[in-house]
Amino acid sequence: MKECIYCKRPKPVEDFTLEHVIPQCLGGAYAPDKFKTRDVCGQCNNNLGLFVDASFEKNWFVSQFFREAAYALFDPAKPVGLPLTPMGSSDLMPPELQEDDVCESWLGPLGEQVYWIRPKDARLYWYVGGNPRTTKKVETRAYFQFSERSTKNALLSWLTFRDAFEGRRVRKIMCTIVDGADPADIGFAPPDRLDAARIEFFRTACSGEQTRKNSLAIYTRYDVRFMAKLALGVGYSLFGEKILSTDYTAELQKALWHREGEQLPDIQGTTDLAGHFDQLFKDVTGHQYAVTLLILPSKEGVAVNLNLGSKMNWIVKCASLENLDAADIEPIKDGVVIILYKYLQRGFTMTLPEFIAYKGGMIDHNDLATINNHIGKHSEYFKNL
Ligand SMILES: [Zn+2]
Repeated sequence: MKECIYCKRPKPVEDFTLEHVIPQCLGGAYAPDKFKTRDVCGQCNNNLGLFVDASFEKNWFVSQFFREAAYALFDPAKPVGLPLTPMGSSDLMPPELQEDDVCESWLGPLGEQVYWIRPKDARLYWYVGGNPRTTKKVETRAYFQFSERSTKNALLSWLTFRDAFEGRRVRKIMCTIVDGADPADIGFAPPDRLDAARIEFFRTACSGEQTRKNSLAIYTRYDVRFMAKLALGVGYSLFGEKILSTDYTAELQKALWHREGEQLPDIQGTTDLAGHFDQLFKDVTGHQYAVTLLILPSKEGVAVNLNLGSKMNWIVKCASLENLDAADIEPIKDGVVIILYKYLQRGFTMTLPEFIAYKGGMIDHNDLATINNHIGKHSEYFKNL
């Protein structure tokens, strides 16, 4: 038997699975191996991934950062499907829409329209795309329509439609007639009677100049459990078992299981929404279209700063200095920066002085320079389509 670092329950050793303490949605698979652990039970790995990591990833602003990164790293010479942008629930009432269904509106990279009809979930209202468990279990239907701009690069629309809603049980229906191509080739279903009525509806309602209303919901504490989990995992990866018995770690564990409406545990840090970071700070701790984590010790403890593309920033204390000695701090004493590019499947680690020197143009980093050149190269591509 051993104890899981997240739920603290003793479980048989065979119940433990590989956990990326820097979640895969941030590119954690490309972080140093030190930040992968087998001291998390399979149940926590699965449930916290589905709900806590997803709560963060599926927040509109966070998911928008990852969409922008995918577009910025897009290479027209090697076209891939791009993520759709969620526009919230639409006021459209397609035929046979049930009372507990929502008609969610999504936009493709060239203005393609997608309407996904799925069950409403009052409890997880801020999860873009709904409850991650329901979307795996219940079959839903989505209707896809090309835009006028699709003709400029029909392959891009085609690949985007192919990859849309991957891993969810969605019956995908094409509303546009595509000459010389069969939507069945990219996983679309032949329309039945209901689909035929809805295709007609979307073709009529979603063309021309009509105005529609969409609503988007945001939960302001969507990141509390996520940041507690990240802090707990990073602290444990750096210092091991000795930090598990501190009062501060107990607060992080409480925060990890926090429920809406409950009093917040005593976590030291601040969120992106709290707005305590000025742009200069975000520029220093981040890097364009990258996820960066800065681990830095101070008199107060060890902090983790999470930054998304110099746009969004969080800071949280991951360990108090109680139980730690100089030898524990030595490897991170100057600060460690982990730079992750999920879409490029790359990750880099450097010290904070190296990172600052690199950003100030004082030292070179060939791999990062290659990535930066790539990002700049196609920035005008979508504007001209
Ligand atoms: Zn557990």
